[in-house]
Amino acid sequence: MEVWGMALVKVRQPLRPFTYEVKDLAPDEVLLRVLACGVCRTDLHIVKGELPLVKVPIIPGHEVVGEVVETGSAVQAFQPGDIVGVPWLGGTCSECWYCRRGKENLCDRPEFTGYTRHGGYATYIVARAQYCFRLPVEQYDPFHLAPLLCAGLIGYRSYRMVPEEAQVIGIYGFGAAAHIIAQVAIQQGKTLFAFVKPQDEEGVRFARSLGVAWAGYSNESPPQQMDAAIIYAPVGSLVVHALEHVRKGGTVVCAGIHMSDIPSFPYRILWGERVVRSVANLTRRDGVEFFEVIRRYPVRTHIRVYRLEEANQALHDLDAGNLTGAAVLKVWAG
Ligand SMILES: [Zn+2]
Ligand SMILES: [Zn+2]
Repeated sequence: MEVWGMALVKVRQPLRPFTYEVKDLAPDEVLLRVLACGVCRTDLHIVKGELPLVKVPIIPGHEVVGEVVETGSAVQAFQPGDIVGVPWLGGTCSECWYCRRGKENLCDRPEFTGYTRHGGYATYIVARAQYCFRLPVEQYDPFHLAPLLCAGLIGYRSYRMVPEEAQVIGIYGFGAAAHIIAQVAIQQGKTLFAFVKPQDEEGVRFARSLGVAWAGYSNESPPQQMDAAIIYAPVGSLVVHALEHVRKGGTVVCAGIHMSDIPSFPYRILWGERVVRSVANLTRRDGVEFFEVIRRYPVRTHIRVYRLEEANQALHDLDAGNLTGAAVLKVWAG
């Protein structure tokens, strides 16, 4: 069967229409008809060559909501007609040091959707069934579900890295991930401070509309010390800002896959057992937990829908900071 999609052929060039042939499915694979695919900042890092290129042409897209069309001979969890999600973690080796310790997000031989395997900027996708998620389709439609597959999941994993006792949490970069996780955190009774790019008044308004306690620019000081901070914007200097404003013992979580260099900073702002850590990828456990969490704490994803052919425009708008919320490609009308 022929799959049509938008592919990266050369770094820093627009995606181009591309087709490839799907032959037989491996026993553990499923073929999905793509309904919707979110556009993630990681796609932008791949297109711009900020992540090492592992395969071209490659169809990006790892926030995929699709309908099962065909299953490999060993697949039992899904049947044709099921609506499932395909995340960034497309496969692991299940035998390396990390996989054997439940840290499959750090697998030495991972597969990533839309990076090492063709992704969801396409009419169909082939995915490994054990890495797909059942989705709360009774509560959410495919377009609002798509951004949850990465912005939501990685957002959730970063939030999970914040110690539970943290009450006042700073969020830097109020885009796709932040706006989802903010809604969960606020329903759980947390106090949130949102930092957006200086002069981004729209961003401030957007954060306030979701109920954060304070919203301001990333060069401003928050009204009080924070217990923890999560950095979603790919800007290294924010790590320093966050460290300056978290209390002793506070944690600063860097959620992105890529970030500009972190400027040097005086040791005294790390002193006092402050912690800086990154978050890499996701585990399947994160996904299962996250979809349970958003059943209990419903979130409303703010999306802008583009046609598949408009993938370059969606990437451009994300890059230019013209989006509040998340960009989603509509593939088949869901
Ligand atoms: Zn592994
Ligand atoms: Zn992503």
